[in-house]
Amino acid sequence: MIYQLARRGPAGRPGPERHENPFDDVVEQIDQAARVLGLDPREVEVLKHPRRQVIVSIPIVMDDGQTRIFTGYRVLHDTTRGPGKGGIRYHPGVNLDEVKALAAWMSWKCALVDVAFGGAKGGVTCDPGTMSEGELERLTRRYVAEIFDLIGPTLDIPAPDVGTDARVMAWVMDTYSMKKGYVEPGVVTGKPLLLGGSRGREAATGRGLLIVTREALRHLGRSLNGARVVVQGFGNVGSNAARLLAAAGAQVVAVSDVRGGISCPDGVDVARLLRFRQETGSVVGFPRTEPLTNDELLTMPCDVLLPAALEGQINEGNADRIRAGLIVEGANGPTTSEADEILVRRGIPVVPDIMANAGGVVVSYFEWVQDRYGYFWPEDEVNARLEEKMVGAYDALRVGAERFNLGNDFRTAAYAVAMERILEARRLRGLYA
Ligand code: NAD
Repeated sequence: MIYQLARRGPAGRPGPERHENPFDDVVEQIDQAARVLGLDPREVEVLKHPRRQVIVSIPIVMDDGQTRIFTGYRVLHDTTRGPGKGGIRYHPGVNLDEVKALAAWMSWKCALVDVAFGGAKGGVTCDPGTMSEGELERLTRRYVAEIFDLIGPTLDIPAPDVGTDARVMAWVMDTYSMKKGYVEPGVVTGKPLLLGGSRGREAATGRGLLIVTREALRHLGRSLNGARVVVQGFGNVGSNAARLLAAAGAQVVAVSDVRGGISCPDGVDVARLLRFRQETGSVVGFPRTEPLTNDELLTMPCDVLLPAALEGQINEGNADRIRAGLIVEGANGPTTSEADEILVRRGIPVVPDIMANAGGVVVSYFEWVQDRYGYFWPEDEVNARLEEKMVGAYDALRVGAERFNLGNDFRTAAYAVAMERILEARRLRGLYA
């Protein structure tokens, strides 16, 4: 999987070469942004070298009494604008090059939405689906103990990612706090509410997607009201986005999950669909809808296509058949680089993931701010601040696309705006020697 996240370069340019090493794709993105920004490649060299890369061995006793050694990573890509921020991934495919690429990607995302963080990422090569809760807890605590000196509210703040959740973040917070000798909720975000999590965090990525979709449609001279929206994936991101889009006046005409899709030309009743999914475990079979496959869903005519499931869903095999007026990337890396080129050529605008799904990291930032204050905001306040951040970021993207003459190539514009901010901050700080 995972790989795909960094395998995509800015689209609409001489297509990025495909590399075995995902960090090579990041290097290419950096060179691409340098060309757009009119910079000498030497000026961006520093972004190609993560500030710190750490590999740790994590021995734990498994439930069968055997000791197994896992490998863990933590990479701090850039800290020019603030402490590192990035998730902890538990997945069998985790390796150093992937973590480096994902850390760089966090640097761009945090800069684009203008939160005071740099980019980081961590992970452990393991298969959490085959591990017991006790094994996962021991793995997490030992991993945190190994990277204890490198994380902290002013250094590097982890969060959930693929294979980790609020439960794991609670163990991170507890292990760190016990070793420090005092409670330190600000060491990690995505925690349960009772341990210093933020109100509004759970729906934040979906709410961010609503805001970005509305802004992008307005920018393109279209309206959210009555817009026909297709949502792939009905998990945290897809279901919250669908619910909020429908409440804001859009018509959600098709939805899918891993088992298949459903469509209803008059608009799906999303509130009822949520209850149905809760009872049956899937959207499939929802009354008064027609079944359809994921391929049919991705290629049906609509105003907005919102891929919110997996990476690589829009690819060479279907990009020519996509009939959406706008694609807003809810998932990370749902569009391959080949598909990107086809979509740019066909004039279908794509709001890239680093912009579209950034609502989660924005509210993670708010969680960190509240933890550091020790004072927690009501949900309305979190949502109002999220709105302000996302609208500001989309505006910067729109202005960047115009300034760099990129037309509707919003992906390249997003990378260029983000890197320009980091490089300007570096220039202001100068080089410590
Ligand atoms: P999730 O596990 O809650 O939901 C995933 C959904 O996708 C489920 O409904 C699942 O059935 C569906 N799905 C899986 N395979 C599918 C397939 N082949 N076809 C159609 N549907 C399929 O995950 P999530 O938290 O909603 O994350 C979705 C994506 O958004 C991921 O790429 C994730 O990295 C990204 N993302 C999540 C957040 C967040 O805050 N949760 C933030 C940023 C990005």
